[in-house]
Amino acid sequence: MDGDGQWRCHRFESLLPYAILLRIATVKISSNAPMQDFPRWNLTSHGQFRVHSAYSVRMGVQFGLTEPLWKAIVDFKGILRIRTFIWLACLGKVLTNEVRCRRRMTLDSRCHTCGFEVETIDHILRRYPVAYSLWCSLVCLEHLGQFFHLSFKEWIFANLTNSGFFVKDGTEWELLFGSLIWLLWNRRNERIFEPDKMHWEPILSHGKRLQQECRSSTILARQSSVVPALARDSIRWEKPPEGWCKLNTDGAVKGELGMASCGGVIRSDQGTEPAIGSQ
Ligand SMILES: [Zn+2]
Repeated sequence: MDGDGQWRCHRFESLLPYAILLRIATVKISSNAPMQDFPRWNLTSHGQFRVHSAYSVRMGVQFGLTEPLWKAIVDFKGILRIRTFIWLACLGKVLTNEVRCRRRMTLDSRCHTCGFEVETIDHILRRYPVAYSLWCSLVCLEHLGQFFHLSFKEWIFANLTNSGFFVKDGTEWELLFGSLIWLLWNRRNERIFEPDKMHWEPILSHGKRLQQECRSSTILARQSSVVPALARDSIRWEKPPEGWCKLNTDGAVKGELGMASCGGVIRSDQGTEPAIGSQ
């Protein structure tokens, strides 16, 4: 703290993420406080560091034991890569410029698209102008304030579990929500790494296609779990008519090396193997 009762943020700003610094800055400190500053471990009642308290927090975050958020992500019925993305986003491990800055991979934490000071995952998925107008078009007016006011994790949790609370059409909202945040992240990457790529399809209709894909794959998974034996039976070698031989072939190519190979097996209607060849 300096003489005016303000935080000397420059002393620790390199150690903490921007969002935490903002939270610290909102805490008003009294210049008349009788005590000197001292470090305090907030996870024990006496303020002293204990390994077991840090361990339990770490394990809880890692294995999803302490917060219902992690269970909600595990239970997400959408495409696996989207579920993984949501998990990483909530752990703060998606490589936004804020995270890259923290890992010393860049010195520039700005959003390269709109110039916002710090490109956080929340900025990309919720507050970046394209994302903002997308959500505004979907969320009911009376819930719009709450939708944008929740913390990032609360926002993810609410949308994965409270289907339809925020939006005008809540049918399988969690699937559409997951698809949309996944697309927002992908399009951000394409703007940076493939600036010439054009998208003719709006994010919303692309998101609805992914939502449909999730729905179809869920139905398919349910069906295939009911009749696994039938699915296995249909993939097998079938003998040719009596007196005939059957040739089965396969091939592979390794494009960058220019190498290719193919082979085949000829079998009679008795299943014997009169000839095997490869090139
Ligand atoms: Zn931006």
